[in-house]
Amino acid sequence: ATPTAVMVGTGVGAFNGILIKGGEPLEKAHKTNCVIFDKTGTLTHGRPEVTKVIVFSTLDVHSFVSILLAVASAESCSEHPIADAVVNYARKVGIDQFAKVDSFQMTPGHGLKCVVTGLLGGLKQYLSYLSPSSLSSSSLFPHLDDQSTSLPSAPETEVLIGNREWLRRNGVLVDSVVDDVMMKYEKVGLTVVLCAIDSVLMMMLAVEDTLKEDARLSVKLLQRMKIDVMLLTGDHTLTARSIARKVGIKKVFAQVLPSDKVQKVKQVQSSGKVVAMVGDGVNDSPALAQSDVGVAIGTGTDVAIEAADIVLMKDQLTDVVAAISLSRVTVRRIY
Ligand code: ADP
Ligand code: MG
Repeated sequence: ATPTAVMVGTGVGAFNGILIKGGEPLEKAHKTNCVIFDKTGTLTHGRPEVTKVIVFSTLDVHSFVSILLAVASAESCSEHPIADAVVNYARKVGIDQFAKVDSFQMTPGHGLKCVVTGLLGGLKQYLSYLSPSSLSSSSLFPHLDDQSTSLPSAPETEVLIGNREWLRRNGVLVDSVVDDVMMKYEKVGLTVVLCAIDSVLMMMLAVEDTLKEDARLSVKLLQRMKIDVMLLTGDHTLTARSIARKVGIKKVFAQVLPSDKVQKVKQVQSSGKVVAMVGDGVNDSPALAQSDVGVAIGTGTDVAIEAADIVLMKDQLTDVVAAISLSRVTVRRIY
């Protein structure tokens, strides 16, 4: 390897916003014959929005607002992109103050559990959470009479939010009817989360994340370079497959726990692949370190950037292609 070729290679990369951490990754990248993409924040923008809401109880305004208040209060303690989506949705509806949350517990890849307090009183109190400037209770809920506002108090409410397994594991009944509704949304690429209050299933929220504009093109260009492209995600299989189909990826590893992502990379490597893993999250960093060439999205978490060999400063997926091409060109100059 000539130091000059490496210097030129890393220099050309840096000039184009592709930060290559030294000569070794630059040389190694030319052997890449498999690229594994993370989903959320890598293939997608990672800023999901709530687009579908289903309430599994009497469909009055009280249940909707109080359930959403409990759920959004719980999610306000989480840093997951889904949590941001739920909190933003609640704000849009007019909830701008959240209830007190205790015993918050997050289980990676599944969901959360906590106790929400202060959901006392009746609808009047819930409505007082609604910001008066954006909404007035009478215009929003004209059909409400005063009687319906005195409701039993619930000083402590256990809230569970997450995927099917998480709710079932915590003793919540998720029957086949609910499952069917979820699958309907998952098949079109939405991520569906369930919410239970005091062990009763109450609400389903579907969140939608948009694909990055150059995701499909990048996959196509990699495949043209005879590189296998795969998707690795903690999300549900149906959701993952739908996203994969949209960008042209055929091989999907879904419902993989954050702690198991590194195992999947090892598995692919042991089948003889030289793997470049592309990711953005804290969850991805062990997998980035395990892969032959770890590629981090520059707008991602510091932990991922730290663990990676190559950092894409422009959050441009076609730069994955550019980095591998650059490596191929550089190595051709070396040998
Ligand atoms: P990804 O690999 O897509 O980043 P994660 O492993 O972080 O996915 O999460 C997998 C699944 O766990 C989510 O699709 C969701 O069903 C559930 N989940 C995790 N955290 C939360 C949360 N804060 N709120 C609701 N659901 C969650
Ligand atoms: Mg991610």
